[in-house]
Amino acid sequence: MFTKLRYNVMQRKYMVLLTYFQTVQMHHVTTSSYIHFGQNLRHILTRDEKMTSLPIETLLNTRKPYLTDGGLETTLIFHDGVELPHFASFTQLDSPEGRVRVDSYFDDYLEAASDAETGFVIDTPTWRANAAWGDVMGLGRSRIAAINTNAVAMAKTVRDRWQCRVSQIIINGAIGPAGDGYAIEQSLESQRAKTSHAVQIEALAAAGVDMVTALTMTHTGEAIGIVQAAKDAGVPVAIGFTVETDGKLPSGQSLGDAIAEVDAVTTNEPIYYMINCAHPDHFKDALLKGENWLKRIGSIRANASRMSHAELDVAEKLDPGNPQELANDYQVLQSLLPNLKVLGGCCGTDHRHVHAIGHACVHKHAA
Ligand SMILES: [Zn+2]
Repeated sequence: MFTKLRYNVMQRKYMVLLTYFQTVQMHHVTTSSYIHFGQNLRHILTRDEKMTSLPIETLLNTRKPYLTDGGLETTLIFHDGVELPHFASFTQLDSPEGRVRVDSYFDDYLEAASDAETGFVIDTPTWRANAAWGDVMGLGRSRIAAINTNAVAMAKTVRDRWQCRVSQIIINGAIGPAGDGYAIEQSLESQRAKTSHAVQIEALAAAGVDMVTALTMTHTGEAIGIVQAAKDAGVPVAIGFTVETDGKLPSGQSLGDAIAEVDAVTTNEPIYYMINCAHPDHFKDALLKGENWLKRIGSIRANASRMSHAELDVAEKLDPGNPQELANDYQVLQSLLPNLKVLGGCCGTDHRHVHAIGHACVHKHAA
């Protein structure tokens, strides 16, 4: 896994350098000297990168889980009283007040990471910033790319402000489904998903994210397309599946089967999988058999609410559940999932939940 990750990142740097040399210096070289040149360059990069680990490698090697945020969109709507057209938080970046709101939203969470003495993953507010939703909102491809670039710049500002207190910070490009939330009738086969998501993924990669994560995936076709687009863009990718109250994906597939399918088709390309946007009560039973695929789960972002997706979709007020109870649930999940690297929240959670999770699940770990 790490070798492949290193290779992908190096490949991206190598292509950039190779293009430079191709245009500037290497008009007359033969194919064999390209290969020779490539091998030398890769050797140099390998030596260089051994001296300073990439932030993503540090994350994947950590024994102490990093924290991430809770529900950005639900916080903006229900706590801040903001209107989000099509649930699109990136629209906040259009105004100075909105930008400050999203920027400062992360402060309480980074405080939790600082308290727990661990790292943090900053998600870009781009869950809806893909080409398919661009079509719905009347935003063309170049505008979608610019929105993603702009969101990464904002995330970097937050990182730079906090890096003195939280030394390990990952910039993660958040990717949402092309369709509407949890409606499985809008499922995508992988090739179409790849083409559709490539616009956003290429923009996020070019803007310098450390990784991208697909959140609330309802079926494997779209997840596979996203993984393939991320691989082409040379950016590490994680896949977050959502489950219904029966612990299965909205497509009806079990979590274990979905992970096995994506791993088989993409040769284990995802750096890890996530379970998100469901209450632990909905998927705990699916984990109890202790099967091998549990090792592939690296992140949990659960809902504070026990409501189903159908109920959440029409809910008029926030259901924050109980932060301490959710943190206790996370401790149980941690005992079942040996490779958890990132813990955060989803619908109904805010910084109180993430603070409680930090106390329950991070403090007890040695660095
Ligand atoms: Zn959610």
